[in-house]
Amino acid sequence: MPRLVESNMLFGMSDSRARHPPNRHVHGAHRYPKGTALTGTGVEGEPVCHTFSFELYPPRSAAAEAALHASLAHLVEAGPEFISVTYGANGSSRELSLSVLGRILEGTGVEAMAHLTCVGSSYAEASALIREFLDAGITSFLALRGDPPAGAREGEDFLGDLGSAGELVQLIHRVQKEREPFAFHDVPGFPGAKRLSRGAKVTIAVAAFPNGHPRSRSVEQDLDTLLAKQAAGANLAITQLFFHADDFFRFVDEARAAGVTMRILPGIMPVLSSQRLTRILELTDEAVPVDLARALASAPDPAGQRSVGIAHATALGSELLAGGASGLHLYTFNQHEPVLAVLRDVGLIDSQTKETA
Ligand code: FAD
Repeated sequence: MPRLVESNMLFGMSDSRARHPPNRHVHGAHRYPKGTALTGTGVEGEPVCHTFSFELYPPRSAAAEAALHASLAHLVEAGPEFISVTYGANGSSRELSLSVLGRILEGTGVEAMAHLTCVGSSYAEASALIREFLDAGITSFLALRGDPPAGAREGEDFLGDLGSAGELVQLIHRVQKEREPFAFHDVPGFPGAKRLSRGAKVTIAVAAFPNGHPRSRSVEQDLDTLLAKQAAGANLAITQLFFHADDFFRFVDEARAAGVTMRILPGIMPVLSSQRLTRILELTDEAVPVDLARALASAPDPAGQRSVGIAHATALGSELLAGGASGLHLYTFNQHEPVLAVLRDVGLIDSQTKETA
C-alpha cells in the first residue's frame, strides 16, 4: 500500500526522497530541531525527523491539579512539538483549560494548543471565547464542534449557531484577522529602539476519524467533513485514537486521494487496563481491538496490564513511524510515565529522559 512520508512534507524534502521509507537506525540522544527527534538517516543520508506531542485534560480536583503540574514538568522536559489541552463541550472547563494553557505558556517554550468546542454557542459567544484565548496568548487551536447534549438531535436550535468544526475554523481566522497584523518588539542593547515583526499566525488543527465518526453515514462523509475543515483554513489534522497502524495508513491514503493535503498526525494512547479499554471504546465507538483486549485480560496483575498497554502502544507507534507518519500525538490521561516509556521505546526520546518524579 503506498504511504506518504509525512515527515518530509514537514521539512520540505523533495517528493522522490519522500517516497523512500525511513531508515530505522535510531540516534536516541539527539533532538533536532526543537519539538522533533532525529530518528535516523534516509537513503541519501538526510536526517529523518519525527515529532511528538501530548494531550492533557484540565484537572478536576486540587490533588489532580498538583499531580498534573508534576507530570507537565516531565512532559515539557521531553521537548514536545506542542501540548494540547481539552475543553469541555458547552464551556464547562473554560477557566481550568485556560489555567493549564497559561502554565504551558509561562516559560516552558512549548507551544500550547487550546481545544475549543462550539456546540451550543451563538456566533457572539464563540467569537468572545476565541478573543479571550487569543488575549491569553494562545495562537494554536484544535477546533471542534463537540458532542451535542445527551438526547439532542441534529438541527435542534440549542445546538447553537455553528453547525460544524469547519465553521469554527473560519470564525477563528475571522477573529484573528481583527488583530494587528504586526507587532513591535524591543531591540536588546538599544534602549527605546523597536523592531517591527509580523503578528502571530494561528495554527488551527481539527479532528479526523480513521475509523469513521460515530455519527457519520459513510467514509465519504468523513472525508468530505475533513475536506471542508481544510477548505475553511485548518492546517493540521489530529486523529481519534485507533489500535492498528493499517487503519491510519488506509485513512491517509483515502484522504490524500480525496484532496486532503494538510498534515495528518496519528493520535495514540497506551491503554493500561481492561477497565480503561472498555471506557475508551464506550467513548469513541471504536471496534474492540481483540489482540489488545486478550493480552490485557490475560495479564496476571495491574503491573502486567500496564506493561501490555505500553508494549502495544510502542509497537503501534513504531509501525506508524516506520510507515511514514510524521510523528505521534499521545493521549496522556494526565500521566507522564506511560507516554514517556512509549516515546523512549520507539526511540523518540533518549533513555535518560526521566519518567518518574
Ligand atoms: P465535525 O467534524 O464537525 O463533525 C463530526 C462528524 O459528525 C462528521 O464527520 C459528520 O460525519 C458528522 N456530522 C457533522 N455534522 C453533521 C450533521 N449536520 N448531520 C449529520 N452528521 C453530521 N470533544 C470535546 O468536547 N472536547 C475536546 O477537547 C475534544 N477533543 C478532541 C480531540 C480529538 C483529537 C478528537 C478526535 C476528538 C475530540 N473531541 C473533543 C470529540 C469531538 O468533540 C467529537 O468527536 C464530536 O462528536 C465532533 O466534533 P468534530 O469537531 O469532529 O465535528
